[in-house]
Amino acid sequence: MRQARQCADAFWLRLVTWQKTHGRSSLPWQNTRDPYRVWLSEIMLQQTQVSTVLGYYERFLTRCPTVADLAAAPEDEVMGLWSGLGYYSRARNLHRCAQDVVARFGGSFPHSAELLQTLPGIGRSTASAIAAFCFGERVSIMDGNVKRVLSRLLAFEGDLASTANEKLLWKAADELLPPEGDTEAISRYTQGLMDLGATVCLPRQPQCLICPVEALCEGRRQGDPARLPIKTRKLKRSAQSLWLLLARSADGEAVWLQKRPASGIWSGLHALPVFDSAEALEAVMPEALRPALRHVPAFLHVLTHKDLHLHPVQVDAARSDMAGLEGRWVAAEDWPALGLPAPVRRLLEERATRIIG
Ligand code: SF4
Repeated sequence: MRQARQCADAFWLRLVTWQKTHGRSSLPWQNTRDPYRVWLSEIMLQQTQVSTVLGYYERFLTRCPTVADLAAAPEDEVMGLWSGLGYYSRARNLHRCAQDVVARFGGSFPHSAELLQTLPGIGRSTASAIAAFCFGERVSIMDGNVKRVLSRLLAFEGDLASTANEKLLWKAADELLPPEGDTEAISRYTQGLMDLGATVCLPRQPQCLICPVEALCEGRRQGDPARLPIKTRKLKRSAQSLWLLLARSADGEAVWLQKRPASGIWSGLHALPVFDSAEALEAVMPEALRPALRHVPAFLHVLTHKDLHLHPVQVDAARSDMAGLEGRWVAAEDWPALGLPAPVRRLLEERATRIIG
């Protein structure tokens, strides 16, 4: 492994120079020092592609132009705005974080990474990104792209599945930072690291021939940078089968939805009633409706850690038939704005509208 301090000066200078001419500069959350906008983009970009985030980012800002607007928005509306971005705990933390910024900091984000980390949903790397971009603090970020770039640059052989090794890499990242006091450089350097990971030092095919730090890169010198970073722990996948009750009002104007509890699958979202088995679903239905239950084709929804096998069971019911069940009828013009899990939204788009009219 190469020592970070051996190449620190050359590294940050090359990266900053490269970022000015080759880095990304036209994304809507760039060219701003507004921590609200930077924070919003950082949270949305976690595990989500830039192209997906663009539309959501604009919609959020149109509805909630300031952190105070977001704090005051009803939770259902925030979940609705987020709907489709996945990882819904991020949306819940986003809302709580906005409320904390208002309650604890008078509506202004704190200026240091240390204090930013005390807010819900803001980890060390996100706090550092906000502090570096908005307040010029000399702190290092460590997202997936940065881990890859720095592991290759330094030929860092440690297994990043271990927290101790991640800390070592983070320490090396601190040593690579531009010098204290140059706030313009730290912001551009942070952006440069992100850009290099996203556009040049790609996971499978690093584009070393066009890389601004190629001459400094120990991984490249050793001949096979794509083998880095090393991370052994594999995600353990599991599978789950769920039965979804798709009850449509006989007048064709509404569907039956429940708000999910605060923990468990799709927590806090609106969804079709969920059951562990077809029998459990049938058991809650009024006797008279049971013969009308119709199993429609099951489908697979793939999550990061889990395969969900979803079995919709459809029924057309008089509004009064559902009176004893948990949930409520939601009109056709209202459910699209609710926070819905992606597969439930898709199912409703296909099947809730088919009988209406
Ligand atoms: Fe990544 Fe290659 Fe650049 Fe090294 S030289 S940082 S491996 S793109």
